[in-house]
Amino acid sequence: MAHALQSERSRRRVNAYRRALYHGAPLYHSVAEIIGDVADDDSVHVIRPNVIAERARTFVAGSPGEVLFAVKANPHPAVLQTIWEAGVRGFDVASMGEIELVHSLFPTARMCFMHPIKSRQSIRRAYALGVRDYAFDHIDELTKIVEETGGAKDLGLFLRLSPRSSGAAYALAGKFGATVMEAQLLMEKARPLCDRLGLTFHVGSQCMIPEDYASAIAIAAELISVTGVKVDMLDVGGGYPVTYPGMTPPPLQDYFDAIEAAVKKEGLTHLSLALEPGRALVADGGATLARIEMRRDQMLYLNDGVYGSLFDAGTPRWRFSTRLWRDGKLVEGDEEAFGFFGPTCDSIDRMEGPFMLPANAQEGDWVEVIGLGAYGLTMTTQFNGFHQGPIVALIDNL
Ligand SMILES: *Cc1c(COP(=O)(O)O)cnc(C)c1O
Repeated sequence: MAHALQSERSRRRVNAYRRALYHGAPLYHSVAEIIGDVADDDSVHVIRPNVIAERARTFVAGSPGEVLFAVKANPHPAVLQTIWEAGVRGFDVASMGEIELVHSLFPTARMCFMHPIKSRQSIRRAYALGVRDYAFDHIDELTKIVEETGGAKDLGLFLRLSPRSSGAAYALAGKFGATVMEAQLLMEKARPLCDRLGLTFHVGSQCMIPEDYASAIAIAAELISVTGVKVDMLDVGGGYPVTYPGMTPPPLQDYFDAIEAAVKKEGLTHLSLALEPGRALVADGGATLARIEMRRDQMLYLNDGVYGSLFDAGTPRWRFSTRLWRDGKLVEGDEEAFGFFGPTCDSIDRMEGPFMLPANAQEGDWVEVIGLGAYGLTMTTQFNGFHQGPIVALIDNL
């Protein structure tokens, strides 16, 4: 299985056969210890289970509805285990790979297949594995779901809407989602075909404006009142933000409050409510340790880059917090702005930052890039033979 191979690879790469494991990942207690163990050329990805557990517990405790973790944000088994142990029992899955992974780890988990466009085979196999809730945004997908589940009478169908959203750093409305006009017809078509009908949307990732959820909930409410179709479920999607340099969002509680207030105001409190956080649970719980292979003025050539875990630092030009390690110790001192190059031969493997690091950063030092637990590790490719380094767990007293 993929994750067995992954942990085998991690162990090999850090010469850590004698080391304790945290759900398959070699377990460490300090960054210095990790760097001291690095056996070869590639960067190291560090998972901080304590941080993820804290974020997940906080989200579950405050959430006004059921929490479905969006697996795509970070599907590493050690991450999924941490989230499960923190009390999350539901997962937003988008592919057979994610479904099989979650099913193999937690046979009793609730899974919602929220990708609006699914292969016929994946619908059939998902149903056989116990998945009952499916998203759709088009009549053809509705037909596929009904045909491939043999006209099952126990389906939950979520119609994906396409709300206008203004506050997301990563827009997600361009590709999926029915317009208001299309939605009316689709609700009428879907109602007799399912046991539970739901409405869902995604306001966009790293959404900086809590009121975006309220606006989308208002659209859902209007559809329900205009069509008179009975709706049972509301899934307000993902998008809950975390703090990155230059991006400080309102507190998470403001998002919960906005959702709860909108549900009350629109008279939808009788619907079952779900939230699909990805980034908010895992972003702060992942970091990459990348070695400086060369310095050219203020540009550092690292052994990780946009084809590794730093995709968002490339063309999307996100900034991340960084720290510098030398001989196992944190380097302190006056900081300067740096840019990075990744290790591949492609000239778009370039990250402008600015990333703040001590002015004397030099070859052989390790840059810790913090905040890559969401859409970092999971985006890694093996382009040019790089980014095959270990994935380790760090349990410290953070
Ligand atoms: C990606 C995705 C999420 C998670 O989004 P975040 O911005 O990471 O919270 C939730 N639901 C769906 C349908 C998604 O595609």
